[in-house]
Amino acid sequence: MQDPHPINRRNFVKLGAAAGAAMLVPATRASGAEAAALPDLPYPFDALEPHIDARTMEIHHGKHHAGYVAKLNAALESAPDLAKMETAALLAALPSVSDEALRTTLRNNGGGHWNHSFFWKSMTPAAKSGVPSAALTSALGAAFGSVDEFRTVFSDASGKRFGSGWAWLIHKDGKLKVTSTPNQDNPLMKGIVADEDLGTPLLGIDVWEHAYYLHYQNRRADYVTAWWNVVNWAEVSSRFEAAAKAS
Ligand code: MN
Repeated sequence: MQDPHPINRRNFVKLGAAAGAAMLVPATRASGAEAAALPDLPYPFDALEPHIDARTMEIHHGKHHAGYVAKLNAALESAPDLAKMETAALLAALPSVSDEALRTTLRNNGGGHWNHSFFWKSMTPAAKSGVPSAALTSALGAAFGSVDEFRTVFSDASGKRFGSGWAWLIHKDGKLKVTSTPNQDNPLMKGIVADEDLGTPLLGIDVWEHAYYLHYQNRRADYVTAWWNVVNWAEVSSRFEAAAKAS
C-alpha cells in the first residue's frame, strides 16, 4: 500500500506535555509558510505497467522525489522569505539568491520537486492516454509538421541529453518548441538555464537512469518509446490551452 502522505507526516512533530496538549504542528519554518509536500501519485504504482514497472514508480516517487522534498524543506529552514513562495516562483527567483550553496541546493531540490510533481501528472494508464486535443494537434503540426514528427524530435532530444536530465515540450511566445535541460533544471529557471530553453512546460520526460534502469537497464531509447504509451494527453492539452490563453 502506498503511504498517502509520507512527507507530510515526517514534517510534523508531536508536541509534548510542555505545549499543553498533544497537537500536530509543522516542524518547519517560522514564516508560517507550509512546507513543500510530496504529492500523491494520481494512480497506483502498477498503473503504468508494463511500460513503467511498479517497483520503479515506488522508488522513484517514495525515495527520489521524497528526497528532493525533504532536502528542499531543510534548505528553506534558513530562508524564510523564499519559503513563502510557490515552488515555480522560487525557481524563477533563483538568480536573486546570493548564497551560492543555498542557490545550488534550491536549484537541484526545488527543481527536482517541481519536475517530478509535473511528471506524475504528465502520465496516466495507457488505456487513458488518449490523443492531443484538436488545438494542440494543430499547434504541433504547425511547429513540427505533425504529431508523429513532434514525437521524433522529442524522443531525439531525450536520447541526446547526456547524463541525467529532462526533455521538454514548451510553449513560448505563442510557439511550441522542444528543449532539454541537465540534472533537475527546467524551463522555468530564468537566469539559470539558457534563454532559448525558457518557456511554459507542457510535457517533460525524466531521463535520469533512476526513471528506467530497473526495467530497461541502459536502454533509454526503449524506455522513451514505451513512455509514449502512458502520456496523459488530456493533461498536456489542457496545459497547452492555458498557456495559449495566457500568451
Ligand atoms: Mn526522477
